[in-house]
Amino acid sequence: MYFHEPTYDLDILCRQNLHIHTCFSGCAKPEMNLHDIVMTAQQSSLDMIAVTDHVSPFSEDEEEFRNSLKALREIAQTIDSPVKLLIGAELSAYGTDNFSYADSDIELDYRLWAQNHYHAGGWIQPEDRSPAGYKNHIIETLTNLIRSDRADCIAHPFHDTYLTNSKKLNVGFARGSVPACFSDNEIGELLELGKKYETAFEINLNAMVDYPEFCRRMYNLGREIGTQFNIGTDAHSLDRIDTRQFIERTKKILL
Ligand SMILES: [Zn+2]
Ligand SMILES: [Zn+2]
Repeated sequence: MYFHEPTYDLDILCRQNLHIHTCFSGCAKPEMNLHDIVMTAQQSSLDMIAVTDHVSPFSEDEEEFRNSLKALREIAQTIDSPVKLLIGAELSAYGTDNFSYADSDIELDYRLWAQNHYHAGGWIQPEDRSPAGYKNHIIETLTNLIRSDRADCIAHPFHDTYLTNSKKLNVGFARGSVPACFSDNEIGELLELGKKYETAFEINLNAMVDYPEFCRRMYNLGREIGTQFNIGTDAHSLDRIDTRQFIERTKKILL
C-alpha cells in the first residue's frame, strides 16, 4: 500500500518512477533484472521506484506470479542502494466486477491496476462496442475497482490505445475516440472517488505523448479536486527508467 499526499510539483513527482516491468514480464527486455533496474534508478537520481509486473486475469498463472515475487524480494535483500524500492504488480481489472486474484493474500508494496488492456486474452468487452459503450464500461469498472479499495493507483487511465490498435478487436474507430467521450464531470467524479479511497491516477509518460490534451485536462481537473498523481514510464527497457529525462516534455504538456 503506497500513498503520498498530493503534490503538483513535477520536479518532485519526476523523482519517482512507479511503473517498471522486470524480465518476469514477458514483454520486458531481458536486461530488466532487478539489480540493474535499481542501479539505473540510482544513477538517474530517482528517490523511489516500483516494479510492477503484469498479473493476468488467469488464476493458473498464480503460482508463477508468487514465485516471481518471492524471487524479487530475495534479490532486493542483496541490493544496497538509497533508492526506495516498492515490489508491486500491475494487476488486471478485466471486467466491470472482475479483478485478478493477487490482491488479497499476496503482499504487495504497490498495487497498480490496469483497466484498459482490452486487447489482452480474457478481457471482457462491453456489449456496446462504440466509443460511448467503452467509456461507460471504463466508468463502471473504475468505480467498482476504486470502491473495492484494492488499488493504490490506476495505470494509464482512460486511454484507448490498446483497444484501437488491436487487429483482433477491430473496433473501427480511431485512437482517442474513447477519452474524447468523457465529460469533465465524468472524469471529475472518478478523480473525486480516487481521492476518497486514496487511489492515485497515473501520469503515464508514454500515454502523455499520444494524449497530450487529455492528460492536461485530467491533470488540471485533478489539481482542482486534490487528486494524487503518480508518475510512471511503463519502462520495459533500462533506458526508460530515468523519469527525469522527460521532465521538460512533461511540463510542456501538463502546465
Ligand atoms: Zn499496462
Ligand atoms: Zn505496464
